[in-house]
Amino acid sequence: MIFHRKTCAEVDLDALESNWNFLKKNAAGKFICPMVKANAYGHGDVMVAKALEIWGAQHLGVCLIEEGLLLRRFGIKTDILVFRGFDREGAEVMIENKLTPVVSTWEQYQALESVAQSEQRFHLKFDTGMNRLGFDASEALALVEKIKNQKKLKLAGVLTHLVAGENSVDSGMTDLQFESFEKIRNIFQLFKIPFHVLNSGGFLTQLSLKTKTKDLPTWVEKEWGLRPGLMLYGYNPTVAEEFSELKIVMTLKSQVAVVRKLRPEDGVSYNHTWKAKKNSQIAVVPIGYADGYRRSLSNRGLALYQGQRVPIVGNVCMDYLMLDVSEISDLADPEVILFGHNDKNQFLSAMELAKMGQTIAWEILTSVSERVPRIYKGTWAKKIESESRLK
Ligand SMILES: *Cc1c(COP(=O)(O)O)cnc(C)c1O
Repeated sequence: MIFHRKTCAEVDLDALESNWNFLKKNAAGKFICPMVKANAYGHGDVMVAKALEIWGAQHLGVCLIEEGLLLRRFGIKTDILVFRGFDREGAEVMIENKLTPVVSTWEQYQALESVAQSEQRFHLKFDTGMNRLGFDASEALALVEKIKNQKKLKLAGVLTHLVAGENSVDSGMTDLQFESFEKIRNIFQLFKIPFHVLNSGGFLTQLSLKTKTKDLPTWVEKEWGLRPGLMLYGYNPTVAEEFSELKIVMTLKSQVAVVRKLRPEDGVSYNHTWKAKKNSQIAVVPIGYADGYRRSLSNRGLALYQGQRVPIVGNVCMDYLMLDVSEISDLADPEVILFGHNDKNQFLSAMELAKMGQTIAWEILTSVSERVPRIYKGTWAKKIESESRLK
């Protein structure tokens, strides 16, 4: 396919592999379910899932049944956990396509039991504080009784989700959740299954405490399994700064379309929310909120141009945004990095951009819209591309 617009999201599969290796090295022997939900946080779920499968991932996590089905259609064979709830119809589809449901209610359990023909694996989710999805700890005993007295449904894991995994122990919330989950684990001890808890924040906090603190919280050495999302894509959501090994995977880039010369008091974009104070140069860049570049970054965000950080001026439009490049003398190279890094490894991270736009890195990454072509780079790109065709 030919792209007539020079706007794309470059996905560096070498960086992804390096982050995956970092994870495997630091979580050796544990249950690891890399999360590829929401189009692999915007990076392209088929390619990322295929890559992880080739590199030895035993499980993959999605939110929707639809996401799991897409991966199956593209030939992904790895165990796929589907975290979102489901009804009877959903249970049928998951069984048919060998997806592994995460069961969060009695209704779901019954739906699964009623449609399962032969042995069907599933995971059980407990709510230990999110107040979102999952069984209450008080239901654990009844669930054990129910599950051990039948043959069709095979328990393959028990999980919970952290409220504030990226915060250090001080918050106390993580401690409470671990305490509560430890009780649940004891009740399920008779099943030889993984117990998984840690998202990126939870895992990196644990890793950081291990290297830094003598007086470790009791939960640090526990064998909790992991469901890493954000860190796989190169970002560390904790305040710990030591994880420079993580590499940014996605670079959102474009090219300057035109440069305009402005005089003092000339305004830029809809409603002239920015006006030139002096003679200025404004670069028009063909990317806007329809590409997932958030409008809340109007007059707040920065972009990387010629290795320098330049401000976004005026309102971000549907298809364009404008940069004040008055301070840049050489405008020969048109490349603009919205986030990610340039060839000289200068970078602007999605985390920084998120702060400027009063949001979080997860939202910046998952917002990059379908209109933006994903271009895969790295030693694995060709091989993975050829293997992730429609089956
Ligand atoms: C998205 C998700 C994760 C991953 O969270 P990150 O903070 O991106 O690491 C883990 N577990 C569940 C249930 C999720 O929905």
